[in-house]
Amino acid sequence: MRGIVQGVGFRPFVHNLALELNLAGYVLNSSAGLVAEVEGDPAVLDAFVKALREDPPPLAWIQEMEILELEAAGDAAFTIRESVAETGEFALVSPDVATCDDCFRDFTTAANRRFGYAFTNCTNCGPRYTIIRDIPYDRPNTTMAAFHMCAACQAEYDDPRDRRFHAQPNACSECGPALSAGIEEARRRLAEGEILAIKGLGGFHLACDARNPAAVGRLRERKRRSDKPFALMARDLAAVEAICEVSDADRRALIGPRRPIVILYGQAADLPHAIAPGNPTLGVMLPYTPLHHLLFTGAPYSLLVMTSGNLSEEPIVVSNAEARERLAGVADWFLTHDRDIYMRTDDSVVRTFEGTERVMRRSRGFAPQTLDLGRRVPELLACGAELKNTFCLTKGQHAILSQHIGGLENYETLVFFEETLANLKKLFRVEPRAVAYDLHPDYLSTKYALGMVGLPKFGVQHHHAHIAACMAENGLGGEVIGVAFDGTGYGADGAIWGGEFLVARYSGFERRGHLRYIPLAGGDAAVRQPWRAALGYLIDAHFEGIPENHVRLVRRMIESGVNTVPTSSCGRLFDAVAAIIGLRTAVNFEAQAAIELEMIAEVGNTARYPFEIEAGPLWQIDFRPMIARLAREAEEGAPKPSISAKFHNTLAEAIIETCRRIRSETKLTRVCLSGGTFQNMRLLGLAVAGLRGAGFEVFLHAKVPPNDGGIALGQAAIAAELMR
Ligand code: ZN
Ligand code: ZN
Ligand code: FE
Repeated sequence: MRGIVQGVGFRPFVHNLALELNLAGYVLNSSAGLVAEVEGDPAVLDAFVKALREDPPPLAWIQEMEILELEAAGDAAFTIRESVAETGEFALVSPDVATCDDCFRDFTTAANRRFGYAFTNCTNCGPRYTIIRDIPYDRPNTTMAAFHMCAACQAEYDDPRDRRFHAQPNACSECGPALSAGIEEARRRLAEGEILAIKGLGGFHLACDARNPAAVGRLRERKRRSDKPFALMARDLAAVEAICEVSDADRRALIGPRRPIVILYGQAADLPHAIAPGNPTLGVMLPYTPLHHLLFTGAPYSLLVMTSGNLSEEPIVVSNAEARERLAGVADWFLTHDRDIYMRTDDSVVRTFEGTERVMRRSRGFAPQTLDLGRRVPELLACGAELKNTFCLTKGQHAILSQHIGGLENYETLVFFEETLANLKKLFRVEPRAVAYDLHPDYLSTKYALGMVGLPKFGVQHHHAHIAACMAENGLGGEVIGVAFDGTGYGADGAIWGGEFLVARYSGFERRGHLRYIPLAGGDAAVRQPWRAALGYLIDAHFEGIPENHVRLVRRMIESGVNTVPTSSCGRLFDAVAAIIGLRTAVNFEAQAAIELEMIAEVGNTARYPFEIEAGPLWQIDFRPMIARLAREAEEGAPKPSISAKFHNTLAEAIIETCRRIRSETKLTRVCLSGGTFQNMRLLGLAVAGLRGAGFEVFLHAKVPPNDGGIALGQAAIAAELMR
């Protein structure tokens, strides 16, 4: 068997199954996977295979099962044999797994020897990717190597009937990692409103009582994070349901073994405004390590802010020394421990749509689980984009997408990129034969790729990569209509693209439509100042709070073309609308204006604005009639929620109409939606329903992010095709 078959309790499972069925033989881990030899009555052997297929251990994932018939060896017993290493082979490394129910019972039962122990784990749960230094997955190859099991732990480890049989991080308070201070003190300090830096699974968190406005306000100030929402950790599901709407799919995501942050609509009037200013959604997760559970045990609070332990824009802090240095100005107190974090991982973020979990930030609990490319490809490295960077390696038919690296804009993040790349190359035994990169010449990921000497290089257009990522995760071949909407991507003509209709296949694409170009003055400044995009749409616009000389300057830049680039960006269209209607003229984090515009949209309003589509074959969507109309409405004092709803409806209709026109020319009926704009659930819902209603088959992201976190997968799929 290949797949995730090691470190998940598979050998004891096979062992116990064989004993139950009275079969003889053996089971072993090889560096290629898991091998079992069984002999007995053919009907019983069939039952054995059926049980493997239908009821494997909870964390296992059997990608491939190969069955060979052999001469009976005449064995009488069933044994677990030593692991064997095969050169060049590799086994899949498991992501980290949230504390299981059995372990929860262990550390919350007074009579249990692990009562109150913050590092309790077993073969069904605990740290994996964050502590593994090399394969095979054995304790000496993890950061648990420094701890020597006591007799009681060793006995569990050696007993195939025990839940901790060969659980590599197995530990107890006698022999395992220890906290730097008592958990009672941590609880007391949190309850008193202090900000704590707490060492977790993939890095440090900064935590405080979420219902204490002073503590939350202080954290926001000290972290220099103006408006970006803080994630919350709730004691249990009931505590989440008390403040948010939770669907069945949300519930599954919340309590599942990956334990991501789930974006939910909150009804939390009693929570401090500073948690998520201007945003009716909350990012909430449940405890995923014993330490987290213990922080809530008997505590007066049921909700903690749990935000990444970093200063804005830097990678999450992992080492104790680093934490004491970098977080000194933020945390009042530190709760650390002596188990090293080998691989940095942030909390993952998901949202559900149509009953399916959709990843927005793919990190802890997901990485380094591979995606299936459907065929064997050469070993490749795809370097990804810049914001929300991830990279992708390929091996056999696996795409190995790195965890979320973050904005590749500073030295610290580049180091994180390089460390993670070195680690994944080692774990999966990859030696890239070619490298793929984004066409943007200034991205650090591009520069990194171009600096790799002696390898063939493939420059991939940003939006082509978005669509290829959507195709790859949905297992699509051939040609599709790709709708790639986002904030920014380097266009093949040097313009900033971001509202694109492509006819795409892995080997290439034709641009068949886009949002009509507007002049965007000021490069990066324009991304932070939505009113500049508004001026691009509406040169005579007026803005509250923007000094008249600034407006004059930008107007002059646009008119003369100085430091001005044409853009078809949908992100800038959202900015323009937000600025024109007086919702927001400046942003503190990426896409803030677009998010706020989505959030205020009135429910049930189906009206639209006029727009035009200029003649094909390169269809250009002209929203000037819409902008003129909504600017007038705004001036006349029309409610913003109504304008926002009509704007969303219009944008969705433009998508559907443009796809129709492309279909009439190409006969293509499959549409892939990708790009950061489709994190907007309002637009996504309208576009999907409308496209389906028009007879299209629609494909979305679920396993990889629609934002630039998915770019690397698309780059890899494209480069693999070009190397055929
Ligand atoms: Zn467990
Ligand atoms: Zn022990
Ligand atoms: Fe993008």
